[in-house]
Amino acid sequence: MNRVYTFNAGPSAMPIEVLETAKEQMLCYKNSGMSVLEMSHRSKDYDEIINNAESNLRKLMNIPSNYKVLFMQGGASSQFAMVPLNLMKTKKADYVVTGAFAKKAAKEAEKYGEVRVVASSADQNFNYIPDLDSSIFNDDSDYVHITSNNTIFGTKISNFPKTKTPLVADMSSNILSEKVNVSDFGLIYAGAQKNMGPAGLTIVIVREDLLGNVMAIAPTMFDYKTIADNDSMYNTPPTYAIYICGLIMEWLLSIGGVEEIEKRNHKKADLLYGYLDQSKLFKAVVKKPADRSIMNVTFVTGDKDLDAKFVAEAKEHGLIGVKGHRSVGGMRASIYNAVPFEAVKALVDFMGEFEKNNL
Ligand code: PMP
Repeated sequence: MNRVYTFNAGPSAMPIEVLETAKEQMLCYKNSGMSVLEMSHRSKDYDEIINNAESNLRKLMNIPSNYKVLFMQGGASSQFAMVPLNLMKTKKADYVVTGAFAKKAAKEAEKYGEVRVVASSADQNFNYIPDLDSSIFNDDSDYVHITSNNTIFGTKISNFPKTKTPLVADMSSNILSEKVNVSDFGLIYAGAQKNMGPAGLTIVIVREDLLGNVMAIAPTMFDYKTIADNDSMYNTPPTYAIYICGLIMEWLLSIGGVEEIEKRNHKKADLLYGYLDQSKLFKAVVKKPADRSIMNVTFVTGDKDLDAKFVAEAKEHGLIGVKGHRSVGGMRASIYNAVPFEAVKALVDFMGEFEKNNL
């Protein structure tokens, strides 16, 4: 079996140890006599799986006890609707638009109330993070929505804004990659398929006092309180995805938690950006170091044909998923938590070789 290095934007690389454990337990989970896939979500064995996943996530992110952790479905895209449905008490909210998903979130919220776009980097195809000084936010908004990491464009918010109203963050593409102070946020949400597990699971971390104000029109399943009051078991949760998520949490704890993965992530990102900044062929799309994502690194040669040649040759070398999103073009290497340093090293080595041959 020849495994390649994947730089996919999501679903993306998984820790090999997690895949090995899942393989080992596929037919029989511990002493249950069955696969997790076959298990009732109301069984004792499954109870342990979901409870461990939650408590390990709480440990990793140091989540205070007045926050609920919800295991949901529908992807981060459903959160674009659930956030306003649950939090837009007076039907006004501030949105920071730093990318395609932020734009979608703002557009969805417009269905439910007044959306004030207080900052945007659309003028330069989202290749920077706009100034987020606290003075730009409206005191009478119900919340401020930000996207902590912009998957497509390769930017991230390094300094979270100080807001008087609850800060809501879409952390889909950088949750658990660096330390964050959960109590700075009213709500955090993330699709699992980058740093937390398989597609099909969405995690919401929400401060308890924000629950219970859902709009009357909201579907029962879109009310956070429904999910919170039923310990994510109002209906059948995505059982296998939560199990894999639990294994990833165990893996993260085993290597030293967020502190350790943050170090590893910086080491990987430094190697790649360091190469890009001295290269005569490749250029990083995001110029300002503080705005650069350490999860999604976007770069171009400036020549579309050469970009395509690079992507094709990289694939031949077992470096998969480096084609950039069509709205940016060029290349994007997604170097999430589970992407090992060796993968980034292999990519940088190949880039060096390609540069030599094509300059
Ligand atoms: N937000 C961000 C930052 C994303 O990267 C993505 C997906 N890549 C989404 C939202 C949408 O997530 P989903 O596909 O889970 O709906």
